[in-house]
Amino acid sequence: MRIDVVSVSRQFGEFQALRSVDLTVQSGELVALLGPSGSGKTTLLRVIAGLDWPDAGDIRFDGASTGGRPAGERQVGFVFQHYALFRHMTVFENVAFGLRVRPRKERPSEAEIRRRVDELLRLVQIDWLADRMPAQLSGGQRQRVALARALAIEPNVLLLDEPFGALDAKVRKELRRWLRRLHEQLGMTSVFVTHDQEEALELADRVVVMNKGRIEQIDTPARLYDNPATPFVSSFLGDNNALDCHVAAGSVLVPGIDTAALERVDLPNGKAKLYVRPHDIAISADPDGEARVRFVSAVGAFVRIEAELPDGRIVELTRTREEQAEEPLALDARVGLRLYRAQVFPGS
Ligand code: ATP
Repeated sequence: MRIDVVSVSRQFGEFQALRSVDLTVQSGELVALLGPSGSGKTTLLRVIAGLDWPDAGDIRFDGASTGGRPAGERQVGFVFQHYALFRHMTVFENVAFGLRVRPRKERPSEAEIRRRVDELLRLVQIDWLADRMPAQLSGGQRQRVALARALAIEPNVLLLDEPFGALDAKVRKELRRWLRRLHEQLGMTSVFVTHDQEEALELADRVVVMNKGRIEQIDTPARLYDNPATPFVSSFLGDNNALDCHVAAGSVLVPGIDTAALERVDLPNGKAKLYVRPHDIAISADPDGEARVRFVSAVGAFVRIEAELPDGRIVELTRTREEQAEEPLALDARVGLRLYRAQVFPGS
């Protein structure tokens, strides 16, 4: 099922939560909506689901307008962060619920319901918990029940709002991988909201970055990380140093940093803003270097260093443990910094 979001706007009183949003999610795609709090992610998801209505624009499923059709008729499955399971029902009955409430004519037989729920519980790997009550489950197990319940109606579209938000980091990671496999196995079109960048970048085919009710950029995780299209995406996604710089005849100048390896930019002469990732700055000991080491931390896979530029600004960078072992850089060492990849935007 392809989803087209066409010029969708949504206003709450004076507040514009969505501003003419256009987005196409291809059939079978797994797309993440990522953005800061209040950027409109949940509102967009609810509008796609049919739980809320756009003031302007349209949602189309496989090219057909969903206008006026309520959530129940859209074959959409939902999973929310605090999706309350029915407390008085067993796991099995929770999953069977969506099938049991169907009108008599569309309702599967009891044997068919049993077969389907058993199959789903096996799929989400909790068949051994079928007779438990929700209160007897862990958070991760509850989320699996919520997913099985959403999948029971055989949705064309699966919508997830921070589905793993309440879980600890380890369980999150495990469920994340498992959701990816499930999505591929079932061939659904899935959209999930998250404010966890790692989750979005690891799980999604494409990531939609939202800001103030607008889409800033839609791209694959790798392209988004390597080629952020706007200053907002550069500063929002992943670690980045934001530095004032100067453009002169296509060259980018930052006092205290060697930028000769940077590609020339197609920007007018004058002030500009440069974004560089910590791993895109090379550092080496240099008695004549203009920068000084101000902080070194060797915890983790990489060594994290903060260097101070001549004008007092701090640049964060990383080097490998091997590099640090071969040429140890201690506090106050004079160093040379070299940029070999950066994003440059006009203006200050
Ligand atoms: P979060 O990550 O915090 O959940 P979000 O990006 O999902 O944020 P939304 O829930 O879509 O953001 O909300 C966008 C904005 O719209 C917020 O400022 C919110 O306060 C406002 N908003 C959402 N629903 C309503 C409503 N029913 N009435 C009034 N304002 C609302």
